[in-house]
Amino acid sequence: MQKKILFASAGLGAASCLAVQGSKKKLKTPSDVLSATLIGATIGLLGGITIDYFSSSHASNKELPLITDDFDPYNVKIGNGMEFSESFAVKIAEKYFGKLPWVRNIYINKDNPKVGLTMVNGCLIYNRKKYINGDTIMLNGGFESDVYLSRTAFTSMNQLKLTIGHEFIHCTQNYMYFSGVLSLKDMNAVYPGSKFPMAELAAYNWEANMGFNDKYLRFNNELGKFDWRNKIYYSWLNNVQF
Ligand SMILES: [Zn+2]
Repeated sequence: MQKKILFASAGLGAASCLAVQGSKKKLKTPSDVLSATLIGATIGLLGGITIDYFSSSHASNKELPLITDDFDPYNVKIGNGMEFSESFAVKIAEKYFGKLPWVRNIYINKDNPKVGLTMVNGCLIYNRKKYINGDTIMLNGGFESDVYLSRTAFTSMNQLKLTIGHEFIHCTQNYMYFSGVLSLKDMNAVYPGSKFPMAELAAYNWEANMGFNDKYLRFNNELGKFDWRNKIYYSWLNNVQF
């Protein structure tokens, strides 16, 4: 596992890194990390000082690209009552899902560090025929994650809620990896006989259970460790309605 750690501030960065690494084995539950986050915030060690990108592909989820005949990033209409801004996205996220300790930032209009993905007019695209609504990047070994939202996520309130919920599920999977609940083998697993990563099946299965993407309903009993019905990690999904 190759990782690169960048320090914005040598002194504080080193301390922060030690705090995160030292606590890695001890933090096992969401309430533990909530406490750790509070402690970190209090003493000013956590909060974006270290950036820890894993260079290998297992570290970030592999979003399934949405395929179109022809995608025009300059012709994506923001939905009625919607606002294409980070503050609006954060407001909707907190309203429907709450504030998750393992989600660091929600970005729009920001280049995503994932290879092959580019941003055009706020849209996250691979090419004219492939785009995604959102993406999640694991930081600090899964202790936290950043979410990147595409302009296409803002075409309606339901689309935005679905996309945020989907990406927050990936953030939670990353945190479960940090906690030792999911292994690298689990994170790399694909559904038997398919090319679909289990992490994606779980996120799309949640969407299906919310009334969208029906074809993923058939995986209701196949998710194993990725089951979003696990209340220890996914209680934040309790209150959202569509
Ligand atoms: Zn996904």
